Amino acid sequence: MADEVTMDKIVSLCRRRGFVFPSSEIYGGLGSTFDYGHYGVLVKNNIRARWLEAMVQERDDIVLIDSAVILHPRVWEASGHVEGFTDPLVDCRTCKLRFRADKLEDSQCGRKPSKRPGEYSECDLTEPRQFNLMFETTVGPVAEAGARAFLRPETAQGIFINFKNVLQLARRRPPFGIAQVGKSFRNEITPGNFLFRVREFEQMEMEYFVPPAQADQWYRYWIDARFEWYVKYGLRRSRLRVREHGPEERSHYSQGTSDIEYDYPIGWSELEGVANRGDFDLTRHAEFSGTELEYVGPEGAERYVPYVIEPAVSIERIFVAMLVDAYDEEEVAGRGRTVLRLHPAIAPVKAAVLPLIARDSAMVEKARGLYEELRTAHAVEYDEGGAIGRRYRRQDEIGTPFAFTVDEQTLADDTVTIRDRDSLAQERLTIGQVAGRLGDELRKPWTTPKGESA
Ligand code: ATP
Repeated sequence: MADEVTMDKIVSLCRRRGFVFPSSEIYGGLGSTFDYGHYGVLVKNNIRARWLEAMVQERDDIVLIDSAVILHPRVWEASGHVEGFTDPLVDCRTCKLRFRADKLEDSQCGRKPSKRPGEYSECDLTEPRQFNLMFETTVGPVAEAGARAFLRPETAQGIFINFKNVLQLARRRPPFGIAQVGKSFRNEITPGNFLFRVREFEQMEMEYFVPPAQADQWYRYWIDARFEWYVKYGLRRSRLRVREHGPEERSHYSQGTSDIEYDYPIGWSELEGVANRGDFDLTRHAEFSGTELEYVGPEGAERYVPYVIEPAVSIERIFVAMLVDAYDEEEVAGRGRTVLRLHPAIAPVKAAVLPLIARDSAMVEKARGLYEELRTAHAVEYDEGGAIGRRYRRQDEIGTPFAFTVDEQTLADDTVTIRDRDSLAQERLTIGQVAGRLGDELRKPWTTPKGESA
């Protein structure tokens, strides 16, 4: 079943149910740019909230920061982005398309039937040249020298330039971390594969500052911790793997980099990167800014530039991985259904409350009452539109784990049915028990019913 999950199916579900829309559609669209609808926003909020819980709420060694998108241009000189944040670009003089020279294998030329660039005899590729991925902008009303600035291509530098503020104010001693969630921008040469590679995305990065001698140990620790976070939120182990970069693939500053990869419909690809960045960033910012960026122990007994371990990921790549992993189609009593078997903590809606017969005012009143009660604590939906089977299908498609149905028996004995999205099992409980039961269900550890072998 899982092999049949194509990106097209995910894109079409997202569009059909209002998770994600192609952006600026009424103007003809802007390639590889997307807007999120109601359910998409709820899923993104849930992914962000679970990440923040794991990084900040459940620990006492990581604090938050929210830095500006446009930073002093020198930041990007110090970080190496002005000089080195480039991808090799080739143009095809025939079809006028541009490709990443290191990703020609994955690219398609403009002619039909499409082949790889260079495979038609008419293809006429230029030599690769380096193309900087940073979006440029100007600060202030006049586009003159000195006004040039960049939209941040990563959130990490906003953390490094605040290292001293946090160290002093929070009286931290390594190991400690600073986490940030926010938009990053990259002028990707070949964006694509839905949300996997976009030009505007929301990054979640954490810089963990450690004594140099402990760097390797913490690097391994964060690879494991991040891997297990994905398993906790429902991704199958069999679809995740860690791939360590060889020395030739690593950035110049990196002492070690591993990708946590997911088996996307496009094949194994980077979901999250975990890097041991050494002392490169703090050293460079100290050099370029003239500010000392180091840890000095009590009475000056210890003094060093901490090493940095960085787990970095975008909500977009998690969003796609979770939807792909959750997507299922099955036949129930001779009818097909599409169901998102999302972890309840990720699902946009936790429960639906449905009166069996919308014309029955007593049923509607009971159902509304239950809905009003549940929504004080959870994201729940009330739906009275159409046949009950269709309403269940609508909830299945957006991944709602539970549905509570008010029927004739409710009017007699105050019980409702609870329906489980995955097993489709139904049982009765009293209305008074519903809130407690839903809370219990949502707190339980959860594993995907798709099973490891799928
Ligand atoms: P890739 O090799 O796929 O371009 P990268 O190695 O350049 O990724 P990093 O610079 O390590 O990526 O960025 C950290 C994380 O940010 C990635 O693991 C990914 O989750 C996310 N990310 C990077 N670029 C994009 C993008 N264009 N769209 C969506 N997410 C992205």
